[in-house]
Amino acid sequence: MIDFHCHLDLYPNPAEVVESCEKRSMFVLSVTTTPSAWEGTDSLASPVSRIRTALGLHPQLAAERIKELPLFDDLLPRTCYVGEVGLDGSSYLRASWECQVRIFRHVLLACEQAGGRIISIHSRRAASDVLSHLEQYPDAGIPVLHWFSGTIAELERAKQMGCWFSVGPAMLAGKRGQEIAARLPASRTLTETDGPFAKNKQRALLPWDVELAVHGLANVWKMSADEVDHLLLNNLRSLSNALPPLHSQ
Ligand code: MN
Repeated sequence: MIDFHCHLDLYPNPAEVVESCEKRSMFVLSVTTTPSAWEGTDSLASPVSRIRTALGLHPQLAAERIKELPLFDDLLPRTCYVGEVGLDGSSYLRASWECQVRIFRHVLLACEQAGGRIISIHSRRAASDVLSHLEQYPDAGIPVLHWFSGTIAELERAKQMGCWFSVGPAMLAGKRGQEIAARLPASRTLTETDGPFAKNKQRALLPWDVELAVHGLANVWKMSADEVDHLLLNNLRSLSNALPPLHSQ
């Protein structure tokens, strides 16, 4: 099972969640919302586990955390994964839009200069802007659009650009999310939970709840859950092989 976008550090009991993930041999992309959270979050997982910690600066925290960009740059050589980053065009965040754009451009340029990263991207109410920025930094790495909620036209543009997608139970619960999921490129899709932010029946999703997303995808793709599982594992393998490993420091 694969949870390619999960906030392990934000569960009330991260150590227990990590232990359960390790027991289940889950692959987890543990995203962070601030550079200062990266080191502590990275140390939650044992070095032999299949948990990887992404370096992030969440667009909702742009204004208060832009000062952490130098720390982002310091930590970037230590991980192949960046996220959660991106843009959020919600009206309550309008005041921080310029800050968000500065951060996102900085992050993409830094990824480009570092040789490319796998990047888990937030694009709520900002899909077109996110895609335009990605076009300006084609060597930033491989964008994985998490919980994509743009229009069908924006989805088609993202597909043309070669973007990847990660989808979770919360997205697949709604009709619109299902419409998007049905059109995703099956060979560039992964599952996620976005736990503990995302919920199922008011309960925070846990990483192994990706099983719900596997069933949701099986439904819209008209495949069996086993076939979807197999496909997702192949996808993860090809994604991990798509970038050169980090140079040892
Ligand atoms: Mn998230």
